[in-house]
Amino acid sequence: MEDKKLVCKDCGAEFVFTVGEQEFFKEKGFDNEPVRCLDCRRKRKAERNNR
Ligand SMILES: [Zn+2]
Repeated sequence: MEDKKLVCKDCGAEFVFTVGEQEFFKEKGFDNEPVRCLDCRRKRKAERNNR
């Protein structure tokens, strides 16, 4: 496996989907690659927790 470069759907920034993260996703049974960078994922998570 290799690190993958993806473009964030929310802010358009390039981010790296690391091998470690890919393995984590695989372990969890997620088929999809992340569509957002870490910052945007954190933001969304924080927003969700506020509700
Ligand atoms: Zn982003």
